[in-house]
Amino acid sequence: MKNVLPYLLLLTILIYPFNFLKSQHVGIENAGKYDRFLIKNVMLIDGKGTPMKGPNDVIVEKNKITAITNTKTGKDAYANEKHFIDGTGMYLLPGLINNHVHIHERPNCTLEYLYKLWLACGITTVRDVGSDIELTLADRQKSQMGYLTAPRILIYMVVRNKDIKGAIAQIREFKKMGADGIKIFGMDKEVREAVLAESHVLGLKVAHHVGVEETDARDDIQYGTSTIEHWYGIPDAALIGSQNFPSWYNYNNENDRFRWAGSLWKEADPVRLEKILKGMVDHHVAWIPTFAIYEANRDLQRAQTQPWFNEYLHPTLANYFSPSPQNHGSYHWNWTTTDEKNWKENYKIWMKAVKDFADMGGLVGAGEDAGFIYMMYGFTYIRELELMHEAGFHPIDVMMNATGNNAIILGFEDQIGRIKEGFLADLILVEGNPLENLKYLYPTGITVVEDGVVKTKGGVKWTIKDGIVYDAVKMLADVKQIVEEAKNK
Ligand SMILES: [Zn+2]
Repeated sequence: MKNVLPYLLLLTILIYPFNFLKSQHVGIENAGKYDRFLIKNVMLIDGKGTPMKGPNDVIVEKNKITAITNTKTGKDAYANEKHFIDGTGMYLLPGLINNHVHIHERPNCTLEYLYKLWLACGITTVRDVGSDIELTLADRQKSQMGYLTAPRILIYMVVRNKDIKGAIAQIREFKKMGADGIKIFGMDKEVREAVLAESHVLGLKVAHHVGVEETDARDDIQYGTSTIEHWYGIPDAALIGSQNFPSWYNYNNENDRFRWAGSLWKEADPVRLEKILKGMVDHHVAWIPTFAIYEANRDLQRAQTQPWFNEYLHPTLANYFSPSPQNHGSYHWNWTTTDEKNWKENYKIWMKAVKDFADMGGLVGAGEDAGFIYMMYGFTYIRELELMHEAGFHPIDVMMNATGNNAIILGFEDQIGRIKEGFLADLILVEGNPLENLKYLYPTGITVVEDGVVKTKGGVKWTIKDGIVYDAVKMLADVKQIVEEAKNK
């Protein structure tokens, strides 16, 4: 074998320019959709909890997947395709769906930074749950038409009106504006009941950021919420009486709020908790736990020193993250070893609850909630998948939560989240098998040793959204440049 290597190398060098010429038509930013292209000789990891298969050839025509064939048995059927991506050694997955984002524009940090980070991380759909409505509506349309380098955008508009009449009027207005759903939080019981009833009439899905407040998961079960975001209202519904807060606890002080949230799960009564989880399953309330966004609470140093910060963290975000009572989520002052210990225990019970919920038949989705608490866009989503694995999900099921299950949550399970003929061409090509190591999904890759050589391997190489091919490596390079320029200002 060793003797063949130099010849193989020579052959590769000779063939390379031709490959380059052929493939340079593919993957140019904003190049528009190709009438037709081939992804050849690639391993498939679908979004339905099924094992990997392949190698396969996949044909994309305009924005749809139109054919999937076995590379070996269908030999040379596609030998003359004009546009192709060679998928040899790569893994094809449905585009990742990020079901909890905020498209926040911040001073000196344009949305290009967010969008390119998401595409670099293989995210082809985002569900916005609260930001500037006008702006996201405009970008949603541009993205849909292929004019904007960005994932698909779905908008769940936040109901801010707190009385019944006002809230109803607001969601009717949202429906007219073209909302994909609504998001509610901090709503009193009778308003919730009315709002949920109206949203069912209008056919709008409802995401509930369930804090420690007047309503909890029992209300989500009773009135029919589509998704519970985060987690608080679930253990809260399983408490006997109130949580054991000290007299001076102030909910509006985030330092208090997040410190004591770290003891919430262990105060939940296990028998009551099981009933709540079962109620959620029976009433089709899905759960987007957003594990990663709280990770600073259990390991502050880890969160503050993430390896990609150096090159990819925008200075505006870095500034926002540093402790300050003025910024949401920047509450890490006087954070103690005991707080971290409490949160580590908290995570264990929380993760078990999420896994139990899934095992009972509940639908679990993945979302990042980045832009707060030291969490960068895109990278946090990949971390979320790692934490789902930590919660006990097999990597195959983790990928299903990220794709097929998230598509069900959005109500688009017949269009995205799968690698299937007739589905939209939202696909990613990864260098390295994410079922072997989820870290291969990080766009910066990981260090490996192959044939005695230390090298960097992995990352999403191509992100295909609606048939448009994006060079994920270039997306990341663009982000690096944006950050560099912002630092030099
Ligand atoms: Zn959020």
